[in-house]
Order: sequence, then structure tokens, then C-alpha cells
Amino acid sequence: MNPKRKVQNESTKGDPVITDLPAACADERLAVEFMEQQRWGDKPYCPRCGDQDVYQMKDSTTGERQADYRWRCRGCKEQFTARIGTVFEDSRAPLRHWCFVFWRAATSKKGVSALEVHRQTGLSYKTCLFMLHRVRCAMDESDIEPLQGTVEVDEVFIGGKPRRKHGTRHTVKKQKATVVGMLERNGRVRPKVVADVSAKTLKVAIAENVDPKARIMTDDWSGYRNLKNEGWNHESVKHSMFEYVRGDVHTNSIEGFFGMLKRGLNGIYHSISKKHLHRYLSEFQFRHNRSELTDGQRTVAAIKAAQGKRLTYAEQVGTA
Ligand SMILES: [Zn+2]
Repeated sequence: MNPKRKVQNESTKGDPVITDLPAACADERLAVEFMEQQRWGDKPYCPRCGDQDVYQMKDSTTGERQADYRWRCRGCKEQFTARIGTVFEDSRAPLRHWCFVFWRAATSKKGVSALEVHRQTGLSYKTCLFMLHRVRCAMDESDIEPLQGTVEVDEVFIGGKPRRKHGTRHTVKKQKATVVGMLERNGRVRPKVVADVSAKTLKVAIAENVDPKARIMTDDWSGYRNLKNEGWNHESVKHSMFEYVRGDVHTNSIEGFFGMLKRGLNGIYHSISKKHLHRYLSEFQFRHNRSELTDGQRTVAAIKAAQGKRLTYAEQVGTA
């Protein structure tokens, strides 16, 4: 079995990256219309009462749409915009910059840094960091179906800026974050931040994310030793004995994903604290699981995923 389980064809209307996206990133009105199109298609409706009897509010002297691009509902008389109920609802940043951030985050293999968005948009670094966290929140898909088929499992240590220059190895290691990655061969990936790489921790991560009937492949780390006794269909290669491939048993795919993750986080890891790492993982997971979409389709998928998700300031700064 070689399951192609990646998300395909979320948008079948061609690739908007060619025309609409670059235009939307340059012009606020086009950005608003682009976001409205992703949100409502050709049938705008009131997010509050669902009524389709809505109209764009116009400036009485110019006849143009109002500067804040509001709509009004004839049903409940409320006013609304395309931002309502999305991760950018309470942001004051122009939608053309939101389009840009979604586009870059959905299409750059190694991710995009707040510094780059800051340079490209002129928004403050803090605002850009804020926007990127929210895009990552939109990209979070923690409710995906359990991984199936052949699932490679491996773990990796990420980042960790040594605070004390003369700290011991132990001090440095303690600040690194541990990620266990589970990847369907030729399919979806699921990276998770975990406390450690003990057998107990790994067992829970696998049980929560992998179908019980899956065939699991790992290296010979002792933390995986008991999987067979726990009833898993488990095979391993002996990395400790320099065995990397035996027949179709290997962990090359998840190691490839980790390689990409580490290269992506390398330039920005100093600004990633453990409490935000899961958001970066969401971003890499989102891109990997939609690698068969075009860049434009993947961007649209991210924008559509921004609906119904909110990230409060408390969650953002890690106090909640
Ligand atoms: Zn209404």
C-alpha cells in the first residue's frame, strides 16, 4: 500500500498565485476583494445571522467603498468585514500585508522570518512576529486522522540558545526542545513537541497519532524497544550498528523532513522559545501535507483555514 493521503485539490479554480495574489499584496482594495472571495465566494453573507441580504457600505460623496471595507446586513442591521471570525480579526495591519504573510508562509520551503516580512512590508518587527504566529495558528491541524500505512518515527533536538557562555553541556542540552516526528511514507507528517525521548513519552505520542494497524519504522533507540510487546507492527534499523536501510525498512523520509525543519529554523531559532515551537511545527506540517498543491492553492488553503480560529494575546505571549 502506498497511500497518497496528502490534501489535494482544495481549490480547483486554477492557481491564484499567478495573478490575484501578487496584485492583492500590492493594493488594499484588491487584497480585501481577494480575502472576501476566499471567504464567501460569489455569495457574501452576514457572519452574525447568516443572511445573504447584505451590501457594501459606500462613501456618500465618492460612491466608492468605505475605507474600512465594511458590509451591512439588512437582516440584523449589523456591520461586518471579511476579517470577522478569523485569526486577523483584531489586527490593524492592512489585508494586503496579511495576503503577503500567508503567501510567503504557505510557499517558502524553509518558512519565512518576521525579519523578512518586516523588511518587505515596513510593518514593525513585533507586528510581523504577531502576524506570523497567527498564520501558524491558522495552519494548525491538530485534528487530523491518525497516520496510516508505513509510518516512520524519529526524534530530533531543536534550537536552544545557551544562556550562559560557560554553561556545562548539561545546561545547554536542557534548553533544547525535543520533537518526535511521525511520517506516513509518501504521505502526511505529524511533528510533536515532547518532554523527552523516554519509552513512555514516545509510546503516548505514537498511540495518539498513529493508527494501531500501521507498520512502524524507527531506529534502534531503546525508547522504541517495547513497541512490539505493546502490540505494534514495528521494525527498526540498527543505526548504532551503521545499518540505515534494510529492505524497505528505513527512516530516511522523516529524517529528510527534520533536515528541512532544522535548516528552516536555523536562521531564526534564537528567537524561538519552547512555548512557540509547536507553532513553527504546524507551519512545516501544513506545507508538507499540502506539497502536492500549487503555491497558490496552498496559500488559499491557509487563508481559508484562518476562519474560525482565534489566537488571543494571552495565548500568543504564552501566559495562557
Ligand atoms: Zn446579519
